[in-house]
Amino acid sequence: MAGVNESLLALADHDETMVRARHEIEHPASTADLDAARAELASAAASKRALDGARAPLVARSGALEHDATAARDRASVIARRLDESTGAGRDLEAMAHERDALMARADQLDEELLSIYEQLEPLDERLESLRVDALAASARRERAQASATAERESAAARLEELTAARGPLAGAIDAATLARYEAAAARAGGIGAARLVNGRCGGCHVAVPAATADRIAHGPEGTIVVCDECGRLLTR
Ligand SMILES: [Zn+2]
Repeated sequence: MAGVNESLLALADHDETMVRARHEIEHPASTADLDAARAELASAAASKRALDGARAPLVARSGALEHDATAARDRASVIARRLDESTGAGRDLEAMAHERDALMARADQLDEELLSIYEQLEPLDERLESLRVDALAASARRERAQASATAERESAAARLEELTAARGPLAGAIDAATLARYEAAAARAGGIGAARLVNGRCGGCHVAVPAATADRIAHGPEGTIVVCDECGRLLTR
């Protein structure tokens, strides 16, 4: 039969693995990847909104320029056809030819401006495309991390279930009064109610205990239990 000190430490070790399993259920290892992917997507969305804001007036202006240039060319074509078919007086023809030329010059001028708008749009469109590629990659990473986190959570939950079942016999090896003290200490100290004294320090909270206390633990009879002033855990050798 194991001594009470040994039984307490065995229960404390077991509870530590349970604490780890619970922690993994709440914070699976892939949470960091998941958070990073989510942050990247949020930042990509913000960059896209800014780009869309910068592109919108240029896109609207290019649409208007295309429309006006087409209208000027169509009008010039109509006049050109009339000129071809015309048998009218020279002055009228001259006026029409002049209007046709003016419309074509106007269309050329609109094309020039359109070209400069396209040049301003090009780098914005390139950034938009690279943003789209990055966002797709981040989205795939988010999905993978999400799946990993779910698998990690499920595996930790299954482990916790087994650990919970295995705890009964470990607790049962400790007398009721000591077990009650242990459980109370565990409730106060994050789920682990006992710790070894290691080099004069509490193995739970790592705070040094007074020399006299350390001496009692080290040299007292088997079953000597001292409470850590700092964390409240039952200290044993
Ligand atoms: Zn302590």
